[in-house]
Amino acid sequence: MKSMSIEIPDPKTLLQHVDIAPYGDDIPVSSNDGFHRGGAFRISSVLPAISSALGHPVQTSIHHDPKKLQEALGFPSCTSAIVVLVDGMGFWNIATRSGHAPYLRSLMHESANARPISTCLSSTTVVALASFGTGTCPGMTAMTGYTQLNPCKHRISQMIQFRNAIPPLELQREPTVFERLSEEGVRVTSSGLPEFADSALTQAALRGSSYIGREDAEERVLEACKAARKPGLTYLYIRDVDKAGHEFGWESESWIAEFETVDAQLALLHRNAPKGTLIVIVADHGMIETDPDQRIDMAQNPELLEGVKFYGGEPRFVMAYADEHVEPESIAERWRSELSGLGGSAEVLTKQEGIDAGMFGPVKPDVEPMIGDVLAIMHDRATLVDSRVQRDGATRLPGVHGSKSMMESDIPCLMDLV
Ligand SMILES: [Zn+2]
Repeated sequence: MKSMSIEIPDPKTLLQHVDIAPYGDDIPVSSNDGFHRGGAFRISSVLPAISSALGHPVQTSIHHDPKKLQEALGFPSCTSAIVVLVDGMGFWNIATRSGHAPYLRSLMHESANARPISTCLSSTTVVALASFGTGTCPGMTAMTGYTQLNPCKHRISQMIQFRNAIPPLELQREPTVFERLSEEGVRVTSSGLPEFADSALTQAALRGSSYIGREDAEERVLEACKAARKPGLTYLYIRDVDKAGHEFGWESESWIAEFETVDAQLALLHRNAPKGTLIVIVADHGMIETDPDQRIDMAQNPELLEGVKFYGGEPRFVMAYADEHVEPESIAERWRSELSGLGGSAEVLTKQEGIDAGMFGPVKPDVEPMIGDVLAIMHDRATLVDSRVQRDGATRLPGVHGSKSMMESDIPCLMDLV
């Protein structure tokens, strides 16, 4: 493959928001920086494109032409594919630190890999995994934020563990690509931590594979390689980069150490995968470092609480659910002026504006109430927290994601035909 180097924009540019990208099979017009965002270059395209590469194209309610996605993403046909999802390893996180990751660097310099694709909004694990697993969008999967309203119980639910949530199979009714492939008799294997084998999130977003649980990270890699000896699809999930990023910030030594470890694990996968296997490496989102001076606590700003019944989302993408008889637009207007006055500006939209802009893709009627009436998508390094319900540490995380900066929403889609 042709080799090229990636020009890394300055840190200020990387914090700028990208436009809301469309869903679908087309290649959208390029942004100012020359990259195409959304459409075929979207996290939801990856599994349908791989299904086409495997000769078992799976259509979804968003993607009708898996072959077109395969061509757009440049995946060669194959009999066995391994898709790796590295939590929190954004395209620009990799590009900026590629000196620490010889394997990822070598992949990224290949011209077919030297461009990001887009994750979803909010740019967070539960939303992205559901969109990835089903090949659809948050408006279809009903997984729209780290926390979101459960309209049946009138409570906020946390969607990683499904606390206070609608049970996973009732909530997320889109078939997963794994299910569809298994129904066609294609082998689908997941290799991951034992604790996730039957977790609510796995059931919702990634059901339909046979799951191999291993405590040891290298064993998980080698199990994936072993599974890939038989035709079909293998999925490998790697978590640790995201964890280190939240705890210490992605610019920390600890993050770099995890990043180096992950690069070594991926290189191990490359060395041990059977010849002819297509490896595809993606992430669910990237990450930014927060600025304590741009941390806004709504508990200390009564103007932000007025007319709001519940808060969902996360500090970079807050969803406010309005009290009955309160116009979302009046909250949105107040938030716009308040937040910029507090030094943490945000793009504030009403739910309707977000839906009309295509932020969640097509939205099913029963999903609509789960989305907040007002959405605050934070700019720069700002966070909007709520010390009434969040632990102090959770309101001061050095590393976060959720918004639509290039850092958070541009993700890798790196292929390696071994
Ligand atoms: Zn995270």
